[in-house]
Amino acid sequence: MDAKASVLAKNFGAAGYRMTKARKKILAVFSEAFRHMSVDDIYLAVKKKGEHVGITTIYRAVDSLVKAGILRQVSLIKGRVFYEVIDKRVSGHHHHLICRKCQKIIDYSDFVGKEIPHIKRLENIASKTREFLIDDYQISFTGLCKLCKGGG
Ligand SMILES: [Zn+2]
Ligand SMILES: [Zn+2]
Repeated sequence: MDAKASVLAKNFGAAGYRMTKARKKILAVFSEAFRHMSVDDIYLAVKKKGEHVGITTIYRAVDSLVKAGILRQVSLIKGRVFYEVIDKRVSGHHHHLICRKCQKIIDYSDFVGKEIPHIKRLENIASKTREFLIDDYQISFTGLCKLCKGGG
């Protein structure tokens, strides 16, 4: 198990979940492969590693990883759900640009710093008016990527 996979396994244990073979394989796949994966992507990635885990088992394991706060749903595009690792030590703090035509998810973190003052202002307003304690946020923009936009 690599360093990132151990971080995930530790978080999972801390959430009070038992590590099963399928869950362990999914964590390994996320720690070394793509950032955003659908259940089908996960299934294929596990298969590519020479392991066979049934799709139903993958579904159930992903569900428990979401409940344990290890994975989260990134977006729902044309009925497909993508998952990514929540822990910033593994995924890094980043935001998303989601193309609604080709379903590509582009991560960006290069100008996240510039957003912070604006986010802080919004957080202050929301926490004051709703008496809500904010501890995290996600930003996703949807639209058309360079290729799908056409015209060049
Ligand atoms: Zn596109
Ligand atoms: Zn992401």
